[in-house]
Amino acid sequence: MGYVFVFIFGLIAGSFLNVCIYRIPAERSVVYPPSRCTLCGRRLMWYHLIPVASYAFLKGKCGYCGDRISPVYPVVELINAVLYTAAFYRLGTGVLFIKSIVLISLMLVVSFIDMKEQIIPDGLIVFGLVAGVAFTKFTVGHSFTDALLGLAAGGGILLATAILSKGGMGGGDVKLMAVAGLFLGWRLTLVALFISFVAGGLFGIVLLLTGKKGRKDPVPFGPFLGGSVIAAYFFGQRMVSLYLLMF
Ligand SMILES: [Zn+2]
Repeated sequence: MGYVFVFIFGLIAGSFLNVCIYRIPAERSVVYPPSRCTLCGRRLMWYHLIPVASYAFLKGKCGYCGDRISPVYPVVELINAVLYTAAFYRLGTGVLFIKSIVLISLMLVVSFIDMKEQIIPDGLIVFGLVAGVAFTKFTVGHSFTDALLGLAAGGGILLATAILSKGGMGGGDVKLMAVAGLFLGWRLTLVALFISFVAGGLFGIVLLLTGKKGRKDPVPFGPFLGGSVIAAYFFGQRMVSLYLLMF
């Protein structure tokens, strides 16, 4: 029963994340006005806004004008719900669960905004900084010092990469990883960076080999960071233990 509840909660939170993804880059309020169709401008009713179900029921089209609705909406809702459920399975309820779902949702919003607009809004960075510091007050075994070291490691290593690669890494990526470091602590921050470089590198090679992008085309790195941060949060500890076992 708990799992069903958490999954549905994840879907509903996911539909709010969609609002954030579409409105924050345009600097519009995320609470007002209510959602409208982007083509015909008609106000969407509550039954148009049921996560995933409405999309399936309306076959991916606006209920009024038939304009196509982006499949990104249900995808974001589903990913968010699955990750919340995984966090619940791993952590149960409590402060750690709340911290993990804040981190998951923040990374999702940032990743999708970066994919769409190639920017990482400062408002989200500030939110992450405040939340990250607040959680060090409430979670046992995650000290403020460790959080600060995570911030320094995440921000510092990417800043060095940005300088060395002469603009291959954006300022938004640096800030994002500094925020993630607050949540992860320094060990898991290093794991997240490692995963993101491997994943980003492999993806870049695939793009070059398939000729989809040239060497000079920018690929947003935010989604790789976001995904790697979530992976490190869930599996990082185990990866560190396995690595240490090898010696
Ligand atoms: Zn419409």
